Amino acid sequence: MSKTIDGNEAAADVLAKLKVAAEQLTAETGVVPGIAVIIVGQDPASVYVAFKGKKAKGCGFHSAEHALPTQTPEKEVIAPVEKLNADPRIHGVLVQLPLPDHIDSSRITQTIAPEKDVDGFHFINVGKLGTGELDTAFVSCTPAGSMLLIEHVHGRDLSGLNALVVGRSNIVGKPMANLLLRANATVTVAHSPTKNLPRSADILVAAVRRPEMTKADWIKPGVTVIDVGINRISDGSNGKSRLVGDVVYGEAATRAGAITPVPCDVGPMTIALVMANTFTAASRDAGRGVALETCG
Ligand code: NDP
Repeated sequence: MSKTIDGNEAAADVLAKLKVAAEQLTAETGVVPGIAVIIVGQDPASVYVAFKGKKAKGCGFHSAEHALPTQTPEKEVIAPVEKLNADPRIHGVLVQLPLPDHIDSSRITQTIAPEKDVDGFHFINVGKLGTGELDTAFVSCTPAGSMLLIEHVHGRDLSGLNALVVGRSNIVGKPMANLLLRANATVTVAHSPTKNLPRSADILVAAVRRPEMTKADWIKPGVTVIDVGINRISDGSNGKSRLVGDVVYGEAATRAGAITPVPCDVGPMTIALVMANTFTAASRDAGRGVALETCG
């Protein structure tokens, strides 16, 4: 049976280090890391936003939430983003996705100042990751968190290892591939038109948005599996539902060397990395470099 990669424990470890580092930053510079989350409409993500606020406060950060009604026009979403860009108490600005259909998500995320873009979605931060300028970049939090979990198993240098990333989204697949490349892995990226997926990977990251698509016979024995997927499926005829990943966990666990359990073990890492990026933004604002190594 494979080793379980405990994302909850890894996330708790990141948050505990952040709390200490934030206290030190505040004591030495007077800067309190501040994060603001904008949510448009009442959807299930609001629970997630409340969770982020709780984690931020737990780290000793200043935390603010801006809840706007679903019908808010695009320009009235842009206005608070611009206000937060100019607010010296706020170092990280997040807009909870998905946004309602009448709002251009890209226009909103590109309005966030790159130095406050703790989600790492701004073109400048994406470009910096692609060109290896990580000292001044923010990396998308789910791949950055996944990378930390991979480091727990393989260390920081992945020389000689083959990695397969299934999925090429801007938020997960592409930045994941870039981080793996940066750590010297030999990387293959698969997507929906891919035929004959390679089965020789030492590290497999599944970010496909397809419940339990990745079967055990896709993987060679001993592989490290990071299952990013969170999919809600019907649980038989009783009208209930349950969360599953993009990997068939039970089967895969019998072959993998190490695996993230289902569901959501990458989820806590995503939130921990949002906090880490906010701390980094505050440190940079205080004229310091990154005090806490979080990825790459
Ligand atoms: P997207 O829907 O944006 O991208 C899915 C990717 O999977 C696409 O690149 C698509 O290819 C590819 N794909 C679809 N079908 C296949 C197939 N049959 N074979 C190979 N590739 C395929 O999803 P995200 O990247 O945003 O998210 C991926 C998963 O991660 C989701 O389950 C999401 O819920 C979860 N997630 C979890 C987070 C966490 O914190 N744990 C955070 C963010 C996401 P193509 O480009 O060709 O369409």
